[in-house]
Amino acid sequence: MMLNQTHDPARLSWVDTANDTATDFPLQNLPYGVFRPGPVATPRLGVAIGTSILDLAAAAHVGLLPEIATAACRQSSLNELMALGAPAWSALRARLSELLGADTCPAGPLRARVESCLTPLARAVMLLPAQIGDYTDFYASIFHATNVGTMLRPDSPLLPNYKWVPVGYHGRSSSIVVSGTAVRRPNGQTKPADLPAPVFGPCKNLDYELELAAFVGPGNPPGTAVPVAHAGQNIFGVVLLNDWSARDLQTWEYQPLGPFLAKNFASTISPWVVTLEALAPFRCPAFARPADDPAPLPHLTDAADQKCGGLDLTLEVWLATAAMRAAGTAPVRLTRGNFQTMYWTLAQLLAHHASNGCNLRPGDLLGSGTVSGPAKDSRGCLLELTWRGTEPLTLPNGEVRKFLADGDEVILRGYAERPGARRLGLGECRGLVLPAVTTEVSYNK
Ligand code: MN
Repeated sequence: MMLNQTHDPARLSWVDTANDTATDFPLQNLPYGVFRPGPVATPRLGVAIGTSILDLAAAAHVGLLPEIATAACRQSSLNELMALGAPAWSALRARLSELLGADTCPAGPLRARVESCLTPLARAVMLLPAQIGDYTDFYASIFHATNVGTMLRPDSPLLPNYKWVPVGYHGRSSSIVVSGTAVRRPNGQTKPADLPAPVFGPCKNLDYELELAAFVGPGNPPGTAVPVAHAGQNIFGVVLLNDWSARDLQTWEYQPLGPFLAKNFASTISPWVVTLEALAPFRCPAFARPADDPAPLPHLTDAADQKCGGLDLTLEVWLATAAMRAAGTAPVRLTRGNFQTMYWTLAQLLAHHASNGCNLRPGDLLGSGTVSGPAKDSRGCLLELTWRGTEPLTLPNGEVRKFLADGDEVILRGYAERPGARRLGLGECRGLVLPAVTTEVSYNK
């Protein structure tokens, strides 16, 4: 993907807070989200800029946006914009960059019109950015797959298909929630080793998974494939994803058909979709496979994707326990990893998904799988960090965790920074763990 004026790190915005070196949302980012400006207002599209949101419905109303994207920007979800495709996304981004740039929009009547469309981010209620039709979760970190496999099958951690097939499963979209939504500890069946039969009750081994997720753009008609060389243009952008996981339920249920109730009770995403175009300065080569690993099959191989299909994106997990919040202590970082350690690129995941003729649709969400790197402090879930609870974590305040406790808040963060590029971030993906409900009262509350 070519760099253009929207990526120029020297450019500033006339929205002062966008020029703060620590902001996730400088002029070079321009991520899209859906928000309510107040509790009773209707949802509308917005673009984050510093500590403000540019209201796209308002901007469309006063004729500031390119014709090709105006109708899509008046919707209450991003699906229509996602369906337009890369040329329209690029035209809209170029125009937004122009309208919000200090150099391209000097003080005057035009800037005043744009300024009238700004609203404070802090007062907005963020919603899910799209109507997510289908949600698929992959397993694209070989380090995660190897760690988990070692716990389950010490003799053969990686199954024979791993280096050939981007492994995934169909998740559930109904329970995807936006950052800030509290998540209730699930109930379910577990089979304690010392009992003859399974029991039903609150999950005891609740975990998070640090993931990146891609929103599908135009998609593909049923019965067609998406060549890996074109797959990148079929991805609108990315968000952070916490794939909450009930490990004890998972252990009992996962054979033979894979994850089910251990995963589908809740998945949390960050509200701001950072476009692949914004991430262009942070592309890097695909993961370098060890010399004795097989090359991917031809339908998953593309020279350009191998050269720049990776993403140099730092991803972190932070934890704030109830005791930490009560004491006014800042969250503690548990993990720092990087998306460039993933065995499969986003384009390979999408191309594989469509390779059998499965139609993908605008707003479908593709989770990467837990992002774990080779180092211990880059493991993206507690299952790996505590090695299934056998090596508990001791937090700075003395609290100990094997898995999540009620009242724990998990915060995912992501950002990209490189010499010669403006640092930008994905914002945050937060979720607070609530106690399980007793099932007898859960239906008629
Ligand atoms: Mn997952």
